[in-house]
Amino acid sequence: MKSNKHKSSHSTEREFGGAFGATCIPVFLPLTVLYLLSVCRSPAASVLQWPPPLPPTAQLWDPVAAVLIAGWIALQSFLYMLPVGKVSEGLVLRDGSRLKYPINGFHALWITAILLSVCLWLGMPLGYLFELMLPLAICAISVSYLLSLYLYIRSFWASKHALSLGGNTGNPLYDFFMGRELNPRIGNFDLKYFCELRPGLIGWMVINLGMLMKEVELGGSPSLAMLLVNFFQLLYVTDALWNEEAVLTTMDIVHDGFGFMLAFGDLAWVPFTYCLQAMFLVVHPQSLSILGAAGIILLNGIGFYIFRKSNSQKNQFRRDPTHKSVAHLETIATATGKRLLVSGWWGFVRHPNYLGDLLMALAWSLPCGMSHILPYFYVIYFTILLIHREARDENHCRAKYGLAWDTYCKRVPYRIIPYIY
Ligand code: NDP
Repeated sequence: MKSNKHKSSHSTEREFGGAFGATCIPVFLPLTVLYLLSVCRSPAASVLQWPPPLPPTAQLWDPVAAVLIAGWIALQSFLYMLPVGKVSEGLVLRDGSRLKYPINGFHALWITAILLSVCLWLGMPLGYLFELMLPLAICAISVSYLLSLYLYIRSFWASKHALSLGGNTGNPLYDFFMGRELNPRIGNFDLKYFCELRPGLIGWMVINLGMLMKEVELGGSPSLAMLLVNFFQLLYVTDALWNEEAVLTTMDIVHDGFGFMLAFGDLAWVPFTYCLQAMFLVVHPQSLSILGAAGIILLNGIGFYIFRKSNSQKNQFRRDPTHKSVAHLETIATATGKRLLVSGWWGFVRHPNYLGDLLMALAWSLPCGMSHILPYFYVIYFTILLIHREARDENHCRAKYGLAWDTYCKRVPYRIIPYIY
């Protein structure tokens, strides 16, 4: 690591409720994960039940969970370092350089799938993950705290240009939360990029499969609802890893530092709250008609189509605006030299990718029926997240593009849902 010879200029912007939010969120969100998992396992599965169904403390810790989490991170790190797949460059950094990233997440997913199939064939009781959910979540939360602490400390040896613009305020709690360093690396190993799509997203798929196996253990075969939830979410994760290169142009990689917000989100929040529908179905089986299933598949298909097409269009445009798939689109110039799309998907609403994502989120919850709010946690939380994320992105774009952004907003008045929002 280089020593910091320059005095770093402090950023002042305060997001997520500033220092107060940054102090509360790291306490509140881990407790929320544990609470949701406890409610989901309980027979009533009601978020309103009082007292909440807290598990005995003996159920919170299991050394098997610690071994599984450590082994999982080691396996995914090993797969990350395999010299397979292409190597791609990220966007230009403030110092004019570009970092290289291995694009082998899709390989990691399928090697993991093969290893898992072998384990199942050897009789490994994957359904036991259902019993281990709380200790696993506690270990993942602990890893995200330790990682964030390491990231915060090491950031003081990073050069001025390596710091993120938003997580360098001088307030330790806020900077710990937002992340000071933009692209922390150990050698060529990029910690943020690794965490973004691999241990959490692939781990979520393993948990989902574990819930399916638990259902098979209990009832002899998987339900249609469980199959749909597993299939939809596997499609989402496979797509994310197939298009892994696109993550290099997202806000998380380009703008946000690597701190507790992303470490906890990637390693604990995603795998242990996005699996709630599958977990819910183990305890609360649902019968789904073929017609109902067809409607839900259609909804997921429409959402996926909008999500994929719009993300690919912007990604292609940012990588090569002369490419034939985007060259015909209408654009407006900005003072930075970059152009903004005002036709195609990005002329439909200002965040068509969020619209597609939200439709899919709804399709993942509907197989769980209408009797409980808990399986709808994802779609509710995700709506709040994307509205907030849209506002953050809007602020960044206004700061970057000034008047051109205002012109874009006039041309494309709706943010996510046409004629509504
Ligand atoms: P986006 O992919 O939406 O990127 C936003 C950026 O796109 C802007 O900062 C701007 O960057 C560029 N842009 C905006 N408007 C235009 C335009 N008209 N023309 C050209 N470029 C434009 O960012 P996110 O990282 O928020 O989302 C990526 C995907 O990840 C989305 O599909 C989202 O739904 C998904 N997501 C999923 C989450 C989950 O937990 N499941 C969580 C968060 C996101 P610039 O101009 O600098 O290129």
